[in-house]
Amino acid sequence: MPAMPAMPAAGPPLSPRPPRRPSAGLADGGGGFLLQATGVLLFLFIPLVLYLFVRHPEPIAASLAAGVGLMLGHRFLARPYMVRAMPRKCVWCNRVLPAALDPAAGTLDLLVGGRLTPVRCCAAHRAPARRFFSFLNGARLPLRLGIFVPLLLLLGALAAAAIGSWGGPAGGGGGTPGLPGGAAGAPGFLPAATALFQLLVGLTVSAAAWGYLLQRRAGRGGADSDGAAAGAGGAGAPLPVPFPAHNFFLLGVRVLLWIFRLVGAWWIWRGASFFLRSLS
Ligand SMILES: [Zn+2]
Repeated sequence: MPAMPAMPAAGPPLSPRPPRRPSAGLADGGGGFLLQATGVLLFLFIPLVLYLFVRHPEPIAASLAAGVGLMLGHRFLARPYMVRAMPRKCVWCNRVLPAALDPAAGTLDLLVGGRLTPVRCCAAHRAPARRFFSFLNGARLPLRLGIFVPLLLLLGALAAAAIGSWGGPAGGGGGTPGLPGGAAGAPGFLPAATALFQLLVGLTVSAAAWGYLLQRRAGRGGADSDGAAAGAGGAGAPLPVPFPAHNFFLLGVRVLLWIFRLVGAWWIWRGASFFLRSLS
């Protein structure tokens, strides 16, 4: 973690090269590649944390501690990155835009932590970005529940398994009373909590990634009917971002949504097949 900020400094010197054509995007000011690479690097924290939680390699206590530490520490790197990326990249397609505002690019007004934050996007990507953040805001309560409840359950199960494995390392059934004790250090509730986490989070991210498309078909009228968000549906009104905003600026929303769709389908399958197996 502390090594992270040092990594961009290892980039190759670009000065002897002639400037590329401006339309190449990545050539913007010579820092475009670095900006994109840093975004990818910061994004990789997320699958790493999920690996530690879902696969929880032994010792479980170390996986849990490392995962929570990375999860909490990630924002301190990702937020400054967001501040740097927002004026330069399209929030939707992640393209590095020309330095000055031109007719080919616009901004989208978001409320990040309650503060009005104009973020840049291609002119053509303003509409899908607006639609997505509008949907996210309207569906924020079920989406939050769908992420945080299974996450808390899994973290609780990991903590209980870590404590259980300290209490009874000899395999003498040191698990929690009333729960099926598995092999030593691997209580029976942990696989179920993991499968439930994957199933519910898979369903939630799939709902987010596909749901905003349904909103487009439903038209502008009724989709933003959720109480406080009602004003946000109007053209030009800034849209609150109900989740940690920095995660949307690492790879851009479009790529993130495809990851949600693919990983979401995989996790729904993993979680559902666990419970179907246990029924048969
Ligand atoms: Zn774009």
